[in-house]
Amino acid sequence: MKKKIAILGSTGSIGTQALEVINKLQSQFEIIALSAGDNISLLKEQILKYNPKYVCIKKEEDKSQLKNLKTEILSGNEGLKTIVSIDEIELVLVAVSGKIGLIPTIEAIKHKKNIALANKETLVMAGEIVMQLAKEYGVKILPVDSEHSAVFQCLENRKTAKNLIITASGGPFLKASKEEMKNANINKTLNHPRWKMGKKITVDSATLMNKGLEVIEAHHLFDFEYKNIKVVIHPQSYIHSAVEYIDGSIIAQIGIPSMHIPIQYALTYPDRCEGIKSESFDFVNAGKFEFYTPDYEKFPALKLAIEAGKQGGTVPVCLNAANEEAVFAFLNNKIKFTDIYEITKSMLENYISIETPSIEQILEEDEKIRIKTRLIIKENFYG
Ligand code: NDP
Ligand code: MG
Repeated sequence: MKKKIAILGSTGSIGTQALEVINKLQSQFEIIALSAGDNISLLKEQILKYNPKYVCIKKEEDKSQLKNLKTEILSGNEGLKTIVSIDEIELVLVAVSGKIGLIPTIEAIKHKKNIALANKETLVMAGEIVMQLAKEYGVKILPVDSEHSAVFQCLENRKTAKNLIITASGGPFLKASKEEMKNANINKTLNHPRWKMGKKITVDSATLMNKGLEVIEAHHLFDFEYKNIKVVIHPQSYIHSAVEYIDGSIIAQIGIPSMHIPIQYALTYPDRCEGIKSESFDFVNAGKFEFYTPDYEKFPALKLAIEAGKQGGTVPVCLNAANEEAVFAFLNNKIKFTDIYEITKSMLENYISIETPSIEQILEEDEKIRIKTRLIIKENFYG
């Protein structure tokens, strides 16, 4: 029997790689629904190739570009909610970027769909609620983020596991001076040495905010205290992460740096299949495996995020919203690279957190912070 799946964000970096995985494993999957934002021409190609019964696009007005295609077209956030509730869908891959992933994920859980989760913002914003709902509805949250996929594969016994070791490539500025970072332009920032990803996460990888968000993600996914989640810089990105046990054993997941592998494992779980990146790892010619302690002074965003995670409540919501708005401003040439951290930090400084927020309160806080961040950027940087 084919697994029936929906892909939210099928036109993005994760979405297109997921379709490559599925293309290779065609006999195992049926695509019921796809969703895209603005890239309607790519979505059109995907509709013709994969014949989904439903698609969802961001803007209602783009529907006309898809007429004459044999698929039901929905739009906006309501469309995403509808898509994830379709009866026959068994697994939803959430590969949209940003806060847009949160509500469809919750809706999918409530409709008892297993979730392959790439969208880390969902757990950063509402980790407690999402994990609790998954438990209540008996739904699996299968991590797609490579570090979390690695931990998921290495975590054979939660009771005797001591520490999670989350690796980080260090991004494009690992060896850069503070001065170079201050003047980093968009091209340099987006030139990630190991991974080809969407723009938002690539900028976060350059500030190491991404690693901080991943620590929060790991805390929720695996129910580990922050003090037991360690970050190690490993520029080669061969070790995708590891689990240390109480007897001193460390189980690590190793392989070439390719998102195809964690995406595929989340889609085929609990099975493993020969996929598009199944060639054997060449230990002898792989070269050095290097490890460093993160430089928290040069990459203060990492500490800021971990501290926000420890504080809990809506503090990570504030962190995520302020950072995302600052990243957009950087990508639009409004602020400097190092301003991303300064702005996010300043938003957290006087922030009053809600301790156990509802989803509605999380969304309200998110919106409030975004408006305030945009205003601060406008007034201070290009008013
Ligand atoms: P991309 O920017 O490449 O893709 C984002 C996808 O979401 C696109 O399909 C985009 O559509 C769609 N989208 C964006 N905004 C909206 C919206 N308002 N409504 C509907 N659809 C929308 O991002 P990535 O694939 O890199 O990342 C996706 C998620 O996965 C992120 O949360 C990221 O943190 C996480 N992740 C990504 C990794 C990677 O290697 N890329 C690794 C680990 C995690 P369109 O392009 O048509 O506008
Ligand atoms: Mg990652």
